Amino acid sequence: MSLETLNGIMIFILGLIFGSFYNVVGYRLPNNMSIVFPQSHCPNCNHKLKFYELIPVLSYIFLLGRCKVCKKRISFSYPFFEIVTGVLFLISYVQFGLSLKFFISITFISILIIISISDIRYYIIPDEVLIIGSILLIIEFITNSYINNLGFINGVLIKILNGLGSFAILYLFKVFGDTVFQKESLGGGDIKLLFIIGLVLGFDMSIVAIFIASFIALPLSIISLIKNDNNILPFGPYLSIAATIILLCNLNLDMILQFFIK
Ligand SMILES: [Zn+2]
Repeated sequence: MSLETLNGIMIFILGLIFGSFYNVVGYRLPNNMSIVFPQSHCPNCNHKLKFYELIPVLSYIFLLGRCKVCKKRISFSYPFFEIVTGVLFLISYVQFGLSLKFFISITFISILIIISISDIRYYIIPDEVLIIGSILLIIEFITNSYINNLGFINGVLIKILNGLGSFAILYLFKVFGDTVFQKESLGGGDIKLLFIIGLVLGFDMSIVAIFIASFIALPLSIISLIKNDNNILPFGPYLSIAATIILLCNLNLDMILQFFIK
């Protein structure tokens, strides 16, 4: 087996384990619950999970998707987000190798996964994740500009300004939307998330991310309108999907313009 394959397998498994942790963070943080205590348990019967019930994906398969004690169904979202994290970590490795860009990529993806889990379940994008995530990313950009001699302005400051610009644009969208629809059109969390997306992808691609996210969300909001179920659609997961596609496919504005001009 080549070293690359071995690295790939290890990174995939690491992604599964991180994904399992992100499930915990995404479910507990918005509830103001501690991430460490209490120990993971069945929400139905409080059965404390043994170590062999906590193995990412495998436990779910062996338990046939049910709690060992009360047989209540375990949400499929647990193994789903574990696999998603594993796969996206692996793709980051294939795209960027073991470079600093890889670490920036998995940091960014981790933030997007945690906020998606939380936004789908509670319609909340936790500030803690955005703040800690931004700090980690800025540290990585500082390291990157130091290693590659980019200088502080090009390597860090411009990126932060990009993030602030993206934040400002979506904020204006919100003010406009709120006036037109006479109700809250966008959550504050979505707007703050745009800071991180602009920081990593740049201002221009963060705008593209908003368009791709709206495009994916549109059919679902129409269905929701027809069914009149009054559900708010969490926008965070769509922004996350769009940002992940742009990051991992290395999309840039030239490619997109060429696609439309052709
Ligand atoms: Zn149970």
